[in-house]
Amino acid sequence: MNIALVGAGIGGLAAAACLLQQGHKVRVYEQAGEVSEVGAAVQMSANAVKVLYQLGLKDTLERHAVRPESFQFLRYDTGELLHLIVLGDEHEKRHGHPYSQIHRVDLHQGLMQAVLALDADALVLGKRAKAVCETENEASVSFEDGTEVRADLLIGADGIKSVVRRHVVDDSPPVFTGQVAWRLAIPIERIAPELRPPMASTIWCGPKNHAVMYYMRGGQVLNFVGCVERPWEEESWTSRKPWDELSADYEGWHPMVRAPIEAADKDQCFRWALNNRQPVMTWCTRRVALLGDAVHATLPYMAQGAAMAIEDAAILSRAVALEAPLFERLGIYERHRAPRAARVVTESTEMGQLYHIADAAQMKQAFKDRNIAASRNNWLYPYNPWSVDITRPFTGI
Ligand SMILES: Cc1cc2nc3c(=O)[nH]c(=O)nc-3n(C[C@H](O)[C@H](O)[C@H](O)COP(=O)(O)OP(=O)(O)OC[C@H]3O[C@@H](n4cnc5c(N)ncnc54)[C@H](O)[C@@H]3O)c2cc1C
Repeated sequence: MNIALVGAGIGGLAAAACLLQQGHKVRVYEQAGEVSEVGAAVQMSANAVKVLYQLGLKDTLERHAVRPESFQFLRYDTGELLHLIVLGDEHEKRHGHPYSQIHRVDLHQGLMQAVLALDADALVLGKRAKAVCETENEASVSFEDGTEVRADLLIGADGIKSVVRRHVVDDSPPVFTGQVAWRLAIPIERIAPELRPPMASTIWCGPKNHAVMYYMRGGQVLNFVGCVERPWEEESWTSRKPWDELSADYEGWHPMVRAPIEAADKDQCFRWALNNRQPVMTWCTRRVALLGDAVHATLPYMAQGAAMAIEDAAILSRAVALEAPLFERLGIYERHRAPRAARVVTESTEMGQLYHIADAAQMKQAFKDRNIAASRNNWLYPYNPWSVDITRPFTGI
């Protein structure tokens, strides 16, 4: 097939690589003049790593990623351990692939190289999509530079403010969740050895606020994400903010949370507004399909937004390879994927409520009741995009 894909983020590049591997002609149209990602890290669990290995990124992950031993949920002030999800060798043994934490730039570069190795002309930069049309025989996308492209199949991987989504679902805007994320990257040598986090993903949980810390770049850099309930203040989605505001948000927190804040470059504190949408079950029309944040933008509290986009990519490529009219193949993709992504969106919102409980005893009990480790090991991480029965809607494993 002749496939046009809008958006060269992690989801779009993963989909392009999966479809190119199957021999389709794919062109990826990206609004930016150069392909780039933000300077923060991303966590990849086995369900997504399975796809990355198939796309030839094993070396990229082995070279750049850190393998954490566990997720440790800790009380924000005392450091009491509230819950543990064992990762490391156990995650790999149980789910077949390692849990990896990698700088986004390294992951994005790896995906881009995978795409370009399959077709050196696949990426078309500086193309901002503005509208989508479809007839029975083709789909088309027009760009702000006045050009238009026609294809057998059009894929919208154009992120949370997706233009393609307007054609498939509706033009409702994303919803501000009332939460923002501070993002910092701190060279580890700036932090005193006794205040450095273990080789784990530590999640410090407190009233209306939590902080996530984990290593990237071979353990040389600490990634800090601080998620705070705050009112919407401005139009900008991502901006540099005063260090004093960051420091005030974590006043009275444990010394191991204060340490990276104190060590941060004062002019390099970025704050992101966290937006999402209600899950939808419509992902496709007869010739247009959505994937990634364009259709299931979520709070990042299960570290699964990009992982879901990567799973979408593999399942869409498998659905497209089936013998059936195109609209039926897209229907199979939609019916299989929508329930799983919806569960991630819903549970991620619930995680925000759990991580932000004010009362210490209530929080401890809530973690016990919820048993996140059992749940995620049961339905989330074991999913294998290459072998799951895609003709059935996702219900569990
Ligand atoms: C604080 C934070 C932490 C996170 N941590 C994790 C994590 O640990 N693990 C995980 O799996 N996920 C995580 N996520 C989620 C993850 O970042 C996103 O789900 C993922 O990046 C979405 O990828 P995407 O390709 O769907 O969209 P995007 O990354 O938004 O890419 C969309 C692309 O489309 C392009 N585009 C947009 N509009 C147009 C247009 N009109 N025309 C042409 N091109 C266009 C954009 O320029 C961009 O390149 C986190 C998110 C946040 C905010």
